[in-house]
Amino acid sequence: MTAQAHKLWHFNGGVHPEQHKDVSTREPIEFMRLPRLVVLPLSQHIGEHCEPLVKAGDNVNKGQVIARAPGYVSAAVHASTSGRVVTVEERPVPHPSGMSAPCIVIEPDGREYWGESRLPPIEDYLNADPVTLRNRVREAGIVGLGGAAFPSAVKLNPRTEQPIDTVILNGAECEPYITCDDMLMRERAAQVLDGLRIIMHVVKAGEAVIGIEDNKPEAYQDFCAALGGSDVDGIRVVQVPTLYPTGGEKQLIKVLTGREVPSQGLPIDVGMVCHNVGTAYAIYRAVAEGEPLISRIVTVTGGGTQNPRNFEVLLGTPVGDLIDAAGGYTPEAHRLVMGGPMMGFALSDDEVPVIKGTNCLLAATREETPATPPALPCIRCGACMRACPANLLPQQLYWFARARDFDKVQDYNLFDCIECGCCSYVCPSHIPLVQYYRFAKTEIWELERERRKADQARIRHEFRQERLEREKREKAEKLARKKAALAKKPEKADAEDPKKAAIQAALERVKAKKATAGVEPKNTSDLTPEQAAQIEAAEARRAHAREKADSEGND
Ligand code: SF4
Ligand code: SF4
Repeated sequence: MTAQAHKLWHFNGGVHPEQHKDVSTREPIEFMRLPRLVVLPLSQHIGEHCEPLVKAGDNVNKGQVIARAPGYVSAAVHASTSGRVVTVEERPVPHPSGMSAPCIVIEPDGREYWGESRLPPIEDYLNADPVTLRNRVREAGIVGLGGAAFPSAVKLNPRTEQPIDTVILNGAECEPYITCDDMLMRERAAQVLDGLRIIMHVVKAGEAVIGIEDNKPEAYQDFCAALGGSDVDGIRVVQVPTLYPTGGEKQLIKVLTGREVPSQGLPIDVGMVCHNVGTAYAIYRAVAEGEPLISRIVTVTGGGTQNPRNFEVLLGTPVGDLIDAAGGYTPEAHRLVMGGPMMGFALSDDEVPVIKGTNCLLAATREETPATPPALPCIRCGACMRACPANLLPQQLYWFARARDFDKVQDYNLFDCIECGCCSYVCPSHIPLVQYYRFAKTEIWELERERRKADQARIRHEFRQERLEREKREKAEKLARKKAALAKKPEKADAEDPKKAAIQAALERVKAKKATAGVEPKNTSDLTPEQAAQIEAAEARRAHAREKADSEGND
């Protein structure tokens, strides 16, 4: 079957923002030099925050685990180079709120020394036990590199009876400035394909479809060349029309297979898993080369940089160092955005580090990110609804989010919103619709956290009350049993008790002794006159002998 013969479906809505991919694809991927410092946040993923395993002053090897993943939905952090831990403290991290979070800061020693930290490569990986491979992905701290940063080992272990028949590999990369996946597919297609084969083996899927937007013809050709055709061994490479947001997981599944992931559902509900091409590459490196996730490809682009291109960057590299590597800012640089213009967020400074989910730095000019005009009242034109790829009613969501009616906003499936920004993009009243949805989601999560905390406190209180009641009850029962036993015990029982009997006998002996006190035993009573005379004679002899001995002793 050829790629042209692959049937495609459509999702509702979508938009066609102006494309700017060519500016960062003129040069091959460049390896970014060692930065002055690496700053590694303890949380670079969706899920539980990591716990640090090092402290200031420790020396670390490249690839060493420096923060462990405490739970199932979490991903360990590894040192991206060798050096000395300078500090473990709160530092600004990439986040729309500009917040700070705990980070491990390493001063590189320049040696890039691995020591024993490289994981042993699994050579015959397509015959290896899937559990071993899944554990390797977990050990390597791999998360989804398309931007979502969800721990990949969890996605490789869907706990459901639903079998997975197809893996979708996401090479759509629909944001108009980002090209890191495009360049990866062009330069390292064979390794990405091997990563895909590992994923298929782990989830036991017989088929895979790779979706690539048709604005990346080179990547498509390179993939076909690496595969040996566009449809080989159950793996099919398919070009999909360029339409934002085809790179959304649910949208790409719909386009490639026609299957609809249900509202609030996951791809597994329709027998699929979807991974980004960058994630497949990271999985290949972890399994075949024993390398944990310590670097990634980042697009540095926009009219605000001198030399837009893609870099392979050590995680923890400060954003400013990366901009310097791209020749620095141009005088027109106006705003720095992490991610693309549709879904990214503005950074307040360039000291924050590159993390696992960083796919792009857009140093934009005023023309590239014009200031949004003041919002006008909604004119109920319905343009947002027509543009929404998730089949939502953005206008209604906006009203309810604005009114803080969080029950209603959930009734209208707020959590199906992928925050693609299509609705804001088309809104003639310039209403920042996505910001309202993000606000509503944050508030709902916060309320949920509070509710869970209150529930836990109530359960703890009830448990304590129950324990106190039980102890009181047990004490009372014990006392009652003792009393009952004493009341029942016959007097004879005391006599039969050997201990008590011995005490009683001793008491009686004392009593008898007291009764005979003053009566001296005499063996000289009732003597005959002859016996008395003999005793007197003996007494006299003894007295004489005593006197003699005394007088000799005195001499
Ligand atoms: S696009 Fe804007 S103005 Fe039109 S209905 Fe939606 S929110 Fe209202
Ligand atoms: S941001 Fe949400 S509501 Fe708006 S178009 Fe995208 S999915 Fe629909």
